[in-house]
Amino acid sequence: MFLSRPELIKKEIFDIAEYVPGKSIEEIASAYGLDPASIIKLGSNENPLGPSPKAVQAMMDAAPCTNIYPSADAIELREALSKYTGFPVSNLIASGPGMDGLLDGLCRLIIEKGDEVIIPTPTFAYYELPAKACGGKPVFVRRKQDFSLDLEKVLKAQSERTKIIFLCSPNNPSGNLLPENDLRIILENTKALVFLDEAYVEFADRNLAELVREYDNLVVGRTFSKAFGLAGLRLGYGIMPEWLAKEYIKAATPFSVSLPALKAGIAALSDVDHLRKSIEIARVGREYLKEKIPFTVYPSQANFVLVDVAPLKAKAVTQSLLRKGIIVRPCDSFREAGDTFIRVTVGTREQNEKVIRAFETVKNEV
Ligand SMILES: *Cc1c(COP(=O)(O)O)cnc(C)c1O
Repeated sequence: MFLSRPELIKKEIFDIAEYVPGKSIEEIASAYGLDPASIIKLGSNENPLGPSPKAVQAMMDAAPCTNIYPSADAIELREALSKYTGFPVSNLIASGPGMDGLLDGLCRLIIEKGDEVIIPTPTFAYYELPAKACGGKPVFVRRKQDFSLDLEKVLKAQSERTKIIFLCSPNNPSGNLLPENDLRIILENTKALVFLDEAYVEFADRNLAELVREYDNLVVGRTFSKAFGLAGLRLGYGIMPEWLAKEYIKAATPFSVSLPALKAGIAALSDVDHLRKSIEIARVGREYLKEKIPFTVYPSQANFVLVDVAPLKAKAVTQSLLRKGIIVRPCDSFREAGDTFIRVTVGTREQNEKVIRAFETVKNEV
């Protein structure tokens, strides 16, 4: 018999609903009796090219040295990031695990019990978790029908206790960019910190990081998980004003970037060819999916597309695709996303063809 002591758990944590990740190949193979090798995974926006071979080599080279702590502030990686982004190292923070680690660190630094954060939904589900864990209260503001930001509502949702406004561009799961002017208006009309999540920005036509030079309340979050193909390594970074970077270091876990991650990150940044190919596959593939999937597909600036399968239900269509060995992401676990949306990661040409055929079959079944 197992006893439990929930009273030991902070109430803020006890009340949090568990994060719902995309399904893994192993889960689906065993649930549907399929050969893992035959399954294609287009559910978590991973890079179909895999990691850069240079990054893989760097991890292997680092392996024999892992008895030694890495640098506490990941300075070598921040220097490489400085070259890549054009920002001085004093504006750069490298974070593990992933950009999620950066979100954790910032919430630890800023959110106290009773503080509020603004989250325009539907969007990436993780923001509310670290905020709640610190005692914060998420205030959700619904996006417009086309998933653009409702600027007026976002500004009106502010209170004396608003500490962070979370924005995502391109937005997950809708793929649309935040207009520069919207960001400026928010930055100029808030006392809060604005967190701009640019996890998919390498696939987009433009980024908004330059605004960090102009505003003292903007943080841009980036990751190696998507365009760089290193989701399993858990590496991200932030571009932020110097005053904030200084304080962030005090709140964050030291050595959060492991030695293999640090070395692989540097190598990945140097592999321009792999990055270029990864971006090309996503850009060509998203147009192909948009044209061929026989449902409403939203325009995307990321490595995924959002499909509205109405009048069918996302759950039923996802199940049907799973039986064919194709993993996609139903968006019913995203707040305010309804029950007819499915997010499909752009895969290789062959994977894209398979997913298109599967959508066609599903459509003809009804
Ligand atoms: C994948 C993703 C992240 C998380 O990135 P990690 O670096 O893997 O933690 C953050 N934001 C959005 C919108 C994402 O889709």
